[in-house]
Amino acid sequence: MTNDELDRLADLIARALLERAPSNVRTHSATSWLPAPVRPAPPERGGEPPPWSGAAQDLTDVAPSANRDAAPRFRASTAELTRATRAAAGGKGAPPERSGREPERRLTRQRAANAPAIDVRIGVSNRHVHLSTADLATLFGTAPLTVARQLTQPGQFAAAESVAVHGPKGRIDGVRVVGPARGDTQLEIAVSDATALGVEPPVAASGALDGSIGGVTLVGPAGRVELRRGLIIAARHLHLAPADARRWGLRDGDRLDVRCGTGARAATLHDVLVRSGDGHATELHLDADEARAVAVKTGDPATILAWRTPGARKRALITERDVQNLARNGQPLPPNAILTPSAQDRARALGMLDR
Ligand SMILES: [Zn+2]
Repeated sequence: MTNDELDRLADLIARALLERAPSNVRTHSATSWLPAPVRPAPPERGGEPPPWSGAAQDLTDVAPSANRDAAPRFRASTAELTRATRAAAGGKGAPPERSGREPERRLTRQRAANAPAIDVRIGVSNRHVHLSTADLATLFGTAPLTVARQLTQPGQFAAAESVAVHGPKGRIDGVRVVGPARGDTQLEIAVSDATALGVEPPVAASGALDGSIGGVTLVGPAGRVELRRGLIIAARHLHLAPADARRWGLRDGDRLDVRCGTGARAATLHDVLVRSGDGHATELHLDADEARAVAVKTGDPATILAWRTPGARKRALITERDVQNLARNGQPLPPNAILTPSAQDRARALGMLDR
């Protein structure tokens, strides 16, 4: 057949189809001899083709836009997508790109693990004394303490009253009393104060007076108290409100690395003890020496860089293969290790485990 004959045949077929087509198609368009396309229901998952389809979907093919010149926007070439999808299904080509959200989540997790970077406010504690009810009465008589200033920690206040502290080598006047009265008298001083007084108290957590020393005398307007215990250099600590503890995943007893100060004297302080529970407001307590060393004052920010929970060190998981390797090298099982059942059997057989 010649091209002319083919054209005429196509024309005859088209006319025959058009005559048999439903009337609405005929009236809809004089040039169209196919039923008008119907837009299929969109796929359920956000307009993306299901992963098993193996083909990209472009609905403009099915239901052409009324405006033929309109460029398809926000859409990669269908042929390109189909090629990439088939290549991926066959295990070829580059792995699919992650959605924008996932790397962000990963970053957040990483940040939480490595660099939480939480800012807290610094409170500098000058030397001060907490007094038992008995010692308070001895030093000041029966009159109640006068509140000079409320402290950040709820219920605690700096009293107008102060005492003199006499040590073997010297004395310090005007040591502030912090109220209210508590069970045990506790005198908290800085290392430079200890040097001036001629004593060597331990660095201890407030309230942990087992290792504390005495050897100084408190002198008040109504009397004197010779301390047998209760003298400490307070360990740097972070008071932590329960809500902040929950928010930041910290617990009472955790140890922190905290960056303090800016510029030339900035430093990271290690082993900052977390004190958390009811009645704590979030504040980092440093003593006067520490604050001077890193050039910070009350109200300055400090940044928590890392923390660890003492005693929560990861226990090694020992497999049967590990047991064999250890035995071959003549090494014992690591203390506290967790053994898989087969590792236990092997270790028993090799005499490395008693029971
Ligand atoms: Zn404190």
